[in-house]
Amino acid sequence: MEDHILWSYSVLSISRKVMKQLKTGETGDYPGGRTKAANILMSGYQRRQKNITSLDRDDALAQDGAHVCMHCGCISPRYHWDHLIPRSRLRGETIPLNQVRSCPGCNLSRGDRDLMTWHRQRQTFPTLGVLRRYIKLCYFYAKERGLLDETADDAVANGLPFDPRELPRRYPPIDQLVWDHAHPTVGRG
Ligand SMILES: [Zn+2]
Repeated sequence: MEDHILWSYSVLSISRKVMKQLKTGETGDYPGGRTKAANILMSGYQRRQKNITSLDRDDALAQDGAHVCMHCGCISPRYHWDHLIPRSRLRGETIPLNQVRSCPGCNLSRGDRDLMTWHRQRQTFPTLGVLRRYIKLCYFYAKERGLLDETADDAVANGLPFDPRELPRRYPPIDQLVWDHAHPTVGRG
């Protein structure tokens, strides 16, 4: 399961860097493409030369961001709190920083489906900000319970509340990605 998580996180990190470069007009550092760069980054995580950082920064950004639906970006007269790892699958456990502001439409449409299953079924892709938070939640959930070395198949069969096999292995082209609806300028984060 760890490889599913680290790979998705590595591609996300590289995509984020490329987005920033395009925004600032820098030339790319990744002539080999995102996949090659993500491979190098992933081996750093695997060898524990790099670590996935805590959710503190993600939370601070969410706190001072615009009040919009984190899934679709719409402005709604009222919001729900959507649990990135579905509450119903957590069987009473509470996970800090698991909630994002969501319009009622997105929240009700998703129900208790796995975040990425929901996106796949409606052919959308999350913002990188939401996805980064979600991948971190999954990683720390598995790490704290000693599950990182389990196969994803076994862990899901044993009641894991998210599906690591659904984490994106490939990301859409950079110009189709959104960093964060609450922080439309990519410079933050
Ligand atoms: Zn929405």
